[in-house]
Amino acid sequence: MIELKSVTKIYNKGQDNECIALQNINLNLPEKGFVFIEGQSGSGKTTLLNLIAGIDYPTEGTIINKFGGNFCSIVFQDFQLIDIMTVEENLKLVLDIMPYSNMDYDELIDKYDLREILSHYPNQISGGQKQRVALVRALLEDRPVIVCDEPTGNLDEENSRVITQFLSEAAKEKLVIVVSHDFELFSEISDRHIILKKRHIIQDECKKNFFGEKSKGKYFICKDRKINVPFRSKMFLSWLFF
Ligand code: ADP
Ligand code: MG
Repeated sequence: MIELKSVTKIYNKGQDNECIALQNINLNLPEKGFVFIEGQSGSGKTTLLNLIAGIDYPTEGTIINKFGGNFCSIVFQDFQLIDIMTVEENLKLVLDIMPYSNMDYDELIDKYDLREILSHYPNQISGGQKQRVALVRALLEDRPVIVCDEPTGNLDEENSRVITQFLSEAAKEKLVIVVSHDFELFSEISDRHIILKKRHIIQDECKKNFFGEKSKGKYFICKDRKINVPFRSKMFLSWLFF
């Protein structure tokens, strides 16, 4: 549903401080599911998210988005809550802007345990609570794609697990793209695991077998060239074709 073709992103092109953040990226993202993009600091993760979300443009290459306009909600690494508004005002603002949202406000508030902090200002709540508010705000927007930049960067282990669970649930209905350096947390739960290293994709694996069922721990490379299927499936495929 979103396709990146030979995408390169260069910051400050032609200047002394030119920086190639992404180089020749080819990527095809599905309509639904949990995509985990892993990479060290500076590998180009945030740049890639911004391009996917449409808030930045490639220097070279094309991005084809079949979701249409207003398709993407962003959970920013630093949350980007409005400091002079309460949690409730921050969330209700979304409903003012997006009156067509089908999400049930009260249900989300209870599910994400925000009822008690609705009257608080962002500087009066914890990092975990801010993360939940930012996520609920994104869910309220009710768009088909949610991208999250390091959603557990500021959280302790327990809160990280809670957020991960929430995201994984959202991925049943939407395309959820999470950028993180936390392999442990997201590799198990994701349907697809992409690794960025020094502006290139060095791995792109799907956790689904050829029959579309989840097969934990068994991968194949999503790119057509390098198919790495489990031995049994190889036997089956060779039997099928020869
Ligand atoms: P990550 O999110 O993986 O840490 P980024 O996408 O933020 O990586 O950055 C990739 C590279 O691009 C880094 O070398 C970074 O310094 C550079 N970069 C990111 N944003 C800008 C910008 N606005 N202007 C110039 N260089 C940038
Ligand atoms: Mg980043």
